Amino acid sequence: MAKLVYDKNGRLIFTKEMKEEYTILMPQMLPVHFGMMKRCLEMEGYKVDMLNTNHRAIVNTGLKYVHNDTCYPALLVIGQLIEAIQSGKYDVNKTALIITQTGGGCRASNYIHLLRKALKKAGLDKIPVISINLSGLEKNPGFKLNLKLIMRLVYSMVYGDIIVLLANQCRPYEIEKGATDKMVEFWENELLAQFEKSEGLGPSSFRENLARIAEDFANIPVARVPKVRVGVVGEIYIKYSPLGNNNLEDFLLSEGCEPVVPGLIDFILFKIDNRLVDADLYGSNIFKRAVVGLLKKYISARQHELIAAVRKYPQFRAPEPFEVIKENVKDYLGYGNKMGEGWLLTGEMLELINDGIVDIVCTQPFGCLPNHIVGKGMIRAIKNHHDDANIVAIDYDAGATKINQENRIKLMLSNARARMEKESGSAAHTAAKAAADADAEADKVYNQSLDDEDARILDLPDMDVKDDILKNSELNK
Ligand code: SF4
Repeated sequence: MAKLVYDKNGRLIFTKEMKEEYTILMPQMLPVHFGMMKRCLEMEGYKVDMLNTNHRAIVNTGLKYVHNDTCYPALLVIGQLIEAIQSGKYDVNKTALIITQTGGGCRASNYIHLLRKALKKAGLDKIPVISINLSGLEKNPGFKLNLKLIMRLVYSMVYGDIIVLLANQCRPYEIEKGATDKMVEFWENELLAQFEKSEGLGPSSFRENLARIAEDFANIPVARVPKVRVGVVGEIYIKYSPLGNNNLEDFLLSEGCEPVVPGLIDFILFKIDNRLVDADLYGSNIFKRAVVGLLKKYISARQHELIAAVRKYPQFRAPEPFEVIKENVKDYLGYGNKMGEGWLLTGEMLELINDGIVDIVCTQPFGCLPNHIVGKGMIRAIKNHHDDANIVAIDYDAGATKINQENRIKLMLSNARARMEKESGSAAHTAAKAAADADAEADKVYNQSLDDEDARILDLPDMDVKDDILKNSELNK
C-alpha cells in the first residue's frame, strides 16, 4: 500500500504509487464537459470516478463539516465529496479527491483548504487532495498536467460548449424523444476516440469536427413551435451544476421552455483576460504578459471558429464573441470587477438581451458576495436601459426550498408568456390586416380588369354578342 508522504508544510502529497492504487473522486459541474474531462484523465492512467449524486444528504453533510457562512457551492462540493467517502462505496485507504483552484481572489481558490479542514473534522485526513490549477499553486508527484493532458482538457471544454449549445436548441423541439441525447453521446464518444489517437486537437481537425457536429445537430428532426427562451446566468457552479441549481434545466424543459446557457469558453477567456487587466492596472513582466496574450488569442480563435460553424445554420443561435460581451459591459462596470464571475455575469445578461432573450434566471448562491454585486446588483441598471428585460434573481442555499425557487421562476415565466401572447396577438393582427388589405387590393384589380373588359366590349359592333358578354361579366362581379 502506498506510503503517506507529507510536504514541509504538512500537506499530504499524492504520490506516484498512489496514482497506481488510488481512485480519484471528482465533483460534477457540467455533465458533458466534465464527463469528457474525466475520460481524458483516465487516458493518462488515473482511475477516476465522477460524482453524479444529487440528494439531500449532500447538503446535510456539507452543513456538518463546512461553516454555514461559507458560500453554498463550497458547501455542496465538499458535502458531496465527504458524503461519497462516508457512503462506504470507496476504500478510504485508496481514495483521493480532486478539486479545482482558480488562483483568483475569490473563495474558489480556498475550497481546497476548507476541504482538508472538513476531512480532518470527519477523521478522514489520510485522504490526499489534488489541486487542479494552471497557476502552479500546489504540486503533486503523482499528478502532472502535461501538455497533452492540458490540450485534451482544453478541447474537451470547447467541444463541450458546442455540443451543449446545439443540444439545448434541439432538445425542446425534437420530434423523436431522446434523439438529442443520443447525438450528444455519439459525439462525446467520437471525440474521445479521436483524443485517444491524439486527433481532434489541432485547429484544422477542430474546424472539421465543428462542421460535422453542427451538421449532425441540424439534421435532428424538430418541430420549431414558439417557446419561451430562458437565459440562465449566475455563479459558475450554481449556473451549471444540476446539484447546485436543483435541476434548473430539467425544470425549464418541463415548463415548455428552451434553456439558453452561456458557454464555458467565455469564462475561460474572462479568467485569462483578467491577467491582462491586472498587468495593465498593476504592471507585469513582459514575458508573462506575452504568454497570456498568446493563450487568449488561441482560445479566442477557437471561439470564433465555433461561432462560424454554428452561424452556417440559421435555425441555431450562435453566441457573441468574448470581445463583444466585453465591449457591451463598458457602460456598466469597470474591468477590474473580476472576483467571482465579475463583469462577465453582467455581460452575459446583456448579450442575451441584445439577442432577444429577455427572460433570464440569475442564479445566486448564498454567501457569494461578488456575484450578488455583478448579478443581482446590476439588474436595476440593466432594466434602466432595457425595459423589456424580465430578470429574476433566484437564491440557492441550504435552507431554500426547490418549490419556492420554482414558484418564483414560474412567476417570471407567466410574465414571459403574457408578453409572447401579446406579441403573437399583435403579430397575428398585423398579418390578418395585411391579408385583408391584399384581398381588397386583389378584388380591386380584378374588378378593374372586368370594367376594362366591359369598356372594350362596348366598342364591339355586334349588339347581340355584346349583350351576352356583358351579362356574363355582371355575373362574374
Ligand atoms: S464566486 Fe461566490 S460562490 Fe463562487 S467561490 Fe466565489 S464566493 Fe463562492
